[in-house]
Amino acid sequence: MTEKLKTIPIVPDTQKPGAAQGCASQGKRQTVADIMQRPMRDLRISVTDRCNLRCTYCMPREVFDENHPFLARAELLSFEEIERLAKLFIQTGVQKIRLTGGEPLLRRGIERLVEALAKLETLDGKPVEVALTTNAVLLAQKAQTLKEAGLARVTASLDGLTEETFRRMSDSNVSVSTVLDGIAAAQRAGLAPVKVNMVVKRGVNDHEIIPMAGHFRNSGVVLRFIEFMDVGSTNGWRMDDVVPAGEILEQINSRYPLEQVDPNYTGEVAERWRYADGGGEVGVIASVTQAFCHECTRARLSTDGKLYTCLFAGSGTDLRAPLRSGATDLVLGSMIAGTWKLRYDRYSQLRHAATEKPKEKIEMSYIGG
Ligand code: SAM
Repeated sequence: MTEKLKTIPIVPDTQKPGAAQGCASQGKRQTVADIMQRPMRDLRISVTDRCNLRCTYCMPREVFDENHPFLARAELLSFEEIERLAKLFIQTGVQKIRLTGGEPLLRRGIERLVEALAKLETLDGKPVEVALTTNAVLLAQKAQTLKEAGLARVTASLDGLTEETFRRMSDSNVSVSTVLDGIAAAQRAGLAPVKVNMVVKRGVNDHEIIPMAGHFRNSGVVLRFIEFMDVGSTNGWRMDDVVPAGEILEQINSRYPLEQVDPNYTGEVAERWRYADGGGEVGVIASVTQAFCHECTRARLSTDGKLYTCLFAGSGTDLRAPLRSGATDLVLGSMIAGTWKLRYDRYSQLRHAATEKPKEKIEMSYIGG
């Protein structure tokens, strides 16, 4: 593989830590922080707004049908455009990039993008970590080439082990074994630790919490339970459908005793637990009942090049138009940093309050889950 590309920081090393408003210290360097002093550390890039499943909580078929106005090819950022913007995000402090969607493995040549991004370095001179979230339908055939392209880790989504539950959640005819084969292929390829996300919806798949825990115990896979969220405006979310993380943990603990584990780093969204008997680790992502906005360091780049500063945002900053009309890196970098500095989103903490809610939230498939 060719030599790693070095990126140049926007803010000079010489600036004193914390001296300027909107800057957070990171070793000797300065990165951009938002109004609540949250730095930008993670970038989620949605590479397509299309998906080969129709999960009812994400892309309900009634809305995402043949009449849905999916983006045309020319509207998508090209790989070269994504790479250019990714470098600018890295200069603003990003250390990890996650490719997502829609279903990222549907984007033709995704390995080329992984290869380009995996060559980038953070402000500290470390390789940028490139990860991917996928429904794993195409993972069995792609895991090895993705690993060779430089992909570090994979998170697969699976909401149940029985065909019936999986069909109800994914609204598709894909079989569970296809997804399990994809997960196994990722493990064989060394995309470790493979994580599996299970969205839990009350009365639909909550009876599969224990079977899923049992299946992935002792396998090296880290299973994470996600509270059903009110992303987008089409999934008919109701609080009654949410199974709180505390309840999920209680269920597992009564069958397989658990012990809490310290977070890997500040701002980790999943709360970590391990099986007391050494059977491995599980996590819960409690963004509804225990909002973690105060630690959120994620920026999101939509399929068509808009920067969103919250998963629940109603609008974003268009980077594609200036990029395609010849804006310099300095201008684009300032737009990214400027947008972040003005960020004060904390939707999940305000979810139940009557004010400050965006009328129309952007769909997760477009903004990147
Ligand atoms: N297609 C890929 C996949 O299935 O993993 C990537 C995109 S998907 C939007 C990313 C993750 O978001 C998946 O793990 C999915 O289960 C989760 N997700 C989507 N809608 C959600 C919701 N309403 N609440 C909680 N998690 C959700």
